[in-house]
Amino acid sequence: MGQKFAAMVACVDPRFLHGPNGLTLTHELAIGLGFRCFPVTRAGGVQDLVRPIREGHRDSIIRDLMVSIGHGAQDVVLVNHEDCKAYPRFSSLDEERRTHVEDLRNASQFLRSIDDFQEINIRMFLAELEQRNPDIFIFKEIRPV
Ligand SMILES: [Zn+2]
Repeated sequence: MGQKFAAMVACVDPRFLHGPNGLTLTHELAIGLGFRCFPVTRAGGVQDLVRPIREGHRDSIIRDLMVSIGHGAQDVVLVNHEDCKAYPRFSSLDEERRTHVEDLRNASQFLRSIDDFQEINIRMFLAELEQRNPDIFIFKEIRPV
């Protein structure tokens, strides 16, 4: 029985470290999707793929993804989340969600422009906060444009 692997790009947010079953939320998401996980942990999730704060941050993520692909990952899962401290404050929840969805789609398109990613499936998720609990995230899959 072959095990599928995915490289998961997600934030360093500590709320991702504590899933309900004692696993990281990223790991929980991977299991739910049927993958074993290569975690690629970066402040802001995909932010450095679309708007790197410093020269080299984007290359660092790509290197981690390339190593994961070299070790058998056939999928890349991109995860951003609400209430992310790596992003500036938003004026509304609507603006916040729109920005994350745009960043996820732009990150996905950017990776698709790289030759080594032509055979890789890319999926995107926005982790939205459950309304009544600021520590619970619900993963919503984002469709490509
Ligand atoms: Zn974050």
